[in-house]
Amino acid sequence: MKILVCISHVPDTTSKINFTAENAEFDSNGVQFVINPYDEFSLARAMWFKEKQGASVTVITVGDASTEPSLRKSLAIGADDAIRIDAQATDGITVAKQLAEVIKSNAYDLILTGRESIDYNGATVPGALATLLDYNFINACVGLEIEGTSVTASKEIDGGTETLGTELPAVIAGQKGLVEEKDLRIPNMRGIMMARKKPLQVLPGIEATSSTKDVSFEKPAEKSACKIVTSVDELIDVLHNEAKVI
Ligand SMILES: Cc1cc2nc3c(=O)[nH]c(=O)nc-3n(C[C@H](O)[C@H](O)[C@H](O)COP(=O)(O)OP(=O)(O)OC[C@H]3O[C@@H](n4cnc5c(N)ncnc54)[C@H](O)[C@@H]3O)c2cc1C
Repeated sequence: MKILVCISHVPDTTSKINFTAENAEFDSNGVQFVINPYDEFSLARAMWFKEKQGASVTVITVGDASTEPSLRKSLAIGADDAIRIDAQATDGITVAKQLAEVIKSNAYDLILTGRESIDYNGATVPGALATLLDYNFINACVGLEIEGTSVTASKEIDGGTETLGTELPAVIAGQKGLVEEKDLRIPNMRGIMMARKKPLQVLPGIEATSSTKDVSFEKPAEKSACKIVTSVDELIDVLHNEAKVI
């Protein structure tokens, strides 16, 4: 089984986020980037299929050279090879088009993605990719088994679990729970050394125009300072006279 894991290179959740160009562009200066957390779950499940069922695992990203550390980390975790499509990831549909072009000429059986990227939270790429490829698609999976070409995937639904079956080739979007958090992979020194020698192919992107563009971003309002009260009377006074909520 040939597995392709789509990796999104996203700001670390602890990064301080700023915008430029009158709040219309994300300012990446000084921001630490990581593998999108949902993609880490998908990558860990791909590694399980590699180790237990002899699958090959390729990782792919759409982005400029600055995204390569996330690919090298994926290789250090155990992926066999990596592809970077050298194009700006300007929106989810464009990313899906770039990925589909490479997948069409490489016959992967299973495409694993994350449920959504934690930067722009578009949740667009997996569904758009499955549509462009005419592959089966299951979103937001917390369980995935494959026997031959049969896929069994589970999803959390309100108050329970839904189990779905489909056939390869398929796009499966994973999320937290696809593997247990203790089974997420951290690269060890041997993996990091081996990753340096593994193939990382850079392919040119296709001409693809974005269907959306960012108009502006707005940050949440700053939290106001905490006030410590030392008695119930003082609390009532503050709620009544300052917050004016009672
Ligand atoms: C210079 C620049 C300009 C941008 N301008 C815009 C803009 O105008 N409008 C806009 O909406 N976004 C813009 N983006 C954001 C960028 O388009 C998104 O990161 C990307 O399109 C994915 O968006 P998403 O949130 O829909 O991904 P999702 O669909 O939420 O991602 C789901 C999964 O798809 C896969 N995936 C997502 N992105 C990639 C990728 N790049 N490579 C491989 N797999 C991937 C991952 O597995 C991910 O978990 C810009 C980014 C850059 C760098």
